[in-house]
Amino acid sequence: MNQNLNFTFSTSFTVTLLWILTTKAQSYTIERTIRKTFLEKMAATTFMNMTGDSESSLSAYQRQQTLPETLRFRPLPAPLAEETTTPFATLQIPDQPVPCRRCLQDSRVGDEMLLLSYNPFLGKSPYQCASPIYVHSKPACADAAVQLSGGPIPEQLSKRLLSIRAYDSKHMMRGNEVVDGNQLLEACQRLLGDDASAEYCHVHFGGPGCFAVRIEKVSQPS
Ligand SMILES: [Zn+2]
Repeated sequence: MNQNLNFTFSTSFTVTLLWILTTKAQSYTIERTIRKTFLEKMAATTFMNMTGDSESSLSAYQRQQTLPETLRFRPLPAPLAEETTTPFATLQIPDQPVPCRRCLQDSRVGDEMLLLSYNPFLGKSPYQCASPIYVHSKPACADAAVQLSGGPIPEQLSKRLLSIRAYDSKHMMRGNEVVDGNQLLEACQRLLGDDASAEYCHVHFGGPGCFAVRIEKVSQPS
């Protein structure tokens, strides 16, 4: 009788112990899952707040490299000349990607591109000169969706050598730097910081020297 009692007590104790251990393990797993989900949501929210953009199409580089709110991009600041073939413009199908200055995207091989001479200055300047630029021709692309202030740095800039020339409101040069594209943000902060007399920069591609984009203080008339 005592043996049966002992056996029953022992079995009950073992079952209870197993139940407690199983419950603990389940609680631990649930807690870990909740904590992981919470951390993932926090990380996603932080990224969206940093960029002001929830589009997942932005590259990892763009999520990290954005202009400060005091600056903005201004693609093709001066009007583009009539897009027809002239002595200063020609249609091409480049055999490698080239940077389009209108949509700020690189072309794909096979895209028809208009190569033309372009002067980006908005006023008279001894520094003004035209340089060759590409824009998508067929199909013509849309203007880049740049933000009124700040905004991610286009990848076509970040991966190329850049020559940056800073000008004041009278279009006189106040500074210049040649940097790798991944240093564009730091160069803009030096050339267009609060203490800088320059109002805007013309960014050129370092090798061929052709105009890429204008970056200006948001105080500039649009
Ligand atoms: Zn384009």
